[in-house]
Amino acid sequence: MTTGRVPDIAARRLSPEEYAANFSDLHPPLDRHQATVEADRCYFCFDAPCVAACPTGIDIPMFIREILTDNPKGAAETILSANIFGGMCARVCPTEVLCEQVCVREVAEGKPVRIGELQRYATDVLMEAGKQTFVREPSTGKRVAVVGGGPAGLSCAHRLAMRGHDVVIYESREKLGGLNEYGIAAYKVVEDFAQKEVAFILSIGGITVGTGKALGRDFSLAELRERFDAVFLGFGLAGVNALGLAEGDTDGVAVAVDYIAELRQTGDLSVLPVGRRIVVVGGGMTAIDIAVQSKRLGAEDVTIVYRRGPDSMGASAFERDLAQTDGVGIKFNARPTRLIATDGHATGIEFEYIRDREGTLVGTGETFVLDADMVFRAIGQTFVPVVLGEAAIEIVDGRIAVDDERRTNLHDVWAGGDCVAGGEDLTVVAVEDGKIAAESIHRHLVG
Ligand SMILES: Cc1cc2nc3c(=O)[nH]c(=O)nc-3n(C[C@H](O)[C@H](O)[C@H](O)COP(=O)(O)OP(=O)(O)OC[C@H]3O[C@@H](n4cnc5c(N)ncnc54)[C@H](O)[C@@H]3O)c2cc1C
Ligand code: SF4
Repeated sequence: MTTGRVPDIAARRLSPEEYAANFSDLHPPLDRHQATVEADRCYFCFDAPCVAACPTGIDIPMFIREILTDNPKGAAETILSANIFGGMCARVCPTEVLCEQVCVREVAEGKPVRIGELQRYATDVLMEAGKQTFVREPSTGKRVAVVGGGPAGLSCAHRLAMRGHDVVIYESREKLGGLNEYGIAAYKVVEDFAQKEVAFILSIGGITVGTGKALGRDFSLAELRERFDAVFLGFGLAGVNALGLAEGDTDGVAVAVDYIAELRQTGDLSVLPVGRRIVVVGGGMTAIDIAVQSKRLGAEDVTIVYRRGPDSMGASAFERDLAQTDGVGIKFNARPTRLIATDGHATGIEFEYIRDREGTLVGTGETFVLDADMVFRAIGQTFVPVVLGEAAIEIVDGRIAVDDERRTNLHDVWAGGDCVAGGEDLTVVAVEDGKIAAESIHRHLVG
């Protein structure tokens, strides 16, 4: 079926000033006075609930007290000793469902201490000073291979380097950083922050980097196990789910994470072509990010369609509000049933309303059509096991199985981040996985 409409996809929809404003810092940083005033709101609770709610267990009352006594560098050291990506996490953590959700002030007044923004204030001061504060322990002579240079891999590498081991990171892309560099929404990480943080992490020394080197293509896990004393796998999720509408050869249907990667890497946002009407299929952070960023690139009409209700969305209420404030529409309880195209280019998409009957989604037979110049697939990323080759690694729920120390069923192989089962697919969780695995590898190597 065709709608007869000509697709409207164009670059340069906005003025240079509009692009700059739309992609500026989502939360402008606190200055010293604002940070002091905010820090003064903390009750410094004994057994503070925020510490337990932070996946990396940062001593939040301690670093806030250090800010209050005008010691931001000390505060940053407290943060980074638990979470070497403290700067990135301050920008990207969904704090509304982590540390700030359980803040006593949130519970009592609905206005938590702005922990994320205070964390950013402190880590920015330290990183601007440009000095690595961690010192390597004496060399152990042991060598560890880390596959994947995202938050999990880099966190593991930094902790191992600190413990005196020599680390080699193998990363298939051109740059390190993983989704911090290629995935996170541009307005959360302005001014090339991801690369500045990578440089800070590597400055500890003892870490060799091989970019453009992929497990499964350039070397096998068996080879790494022969050449190194231990291996950490942190290669994330390389696949994406399909809509199941035979969309493969239809122009105008794009993978959201690929488009976001392009957006993050371009030096000039005005050259990115974007549709006038955009439909995004999905309900997680990626769906929100592609919708908001398309709108901010100048798309006129952007709608997210999600198959369940608002409470089941992977994106938090804050993210949903951000999208709606930007003028993105969200439709719930509908699934795509048919792609509509003109001369091989998507011009619309048909959905059917669905109902949840005791956990099973059932079509109602009622349909609606949304016009679209571009349709984004944002229905989840998938683990691609093929890179593991012949290795007999246990897989559970479609991802690598690990124990509490992030060790796989192979005695010298650990794994963490998005590629392992049971995680939450958050930056802060990947960082914690890398840290826990590094300490376990260290115990294994030094007996
Ligand atoms: C669009 C998007 C937005 C997001 N926004 C947020 C957010 O706002 N807040 C938040 O907390 N989380 C967010 N996340 C989730 C977060 O980015 C991930 O949970 C986190 O990056 C996982 O870290 P990782 O190191 O496991 O994997 P990744 O960051 O994916 O890093 C894996 C690395 O391994 C490399 N690699 C892959 N295959 C190979 C191979 N065969 N050999 C060698 N290297 C390989 C990859 O190139 C990559 O650099 C978002 C995710 C997406 C997709
Ligand atoms: S790392 Fe994230 S969850 Fe932990 S204290 Fe910082 S902002 Fe909160």
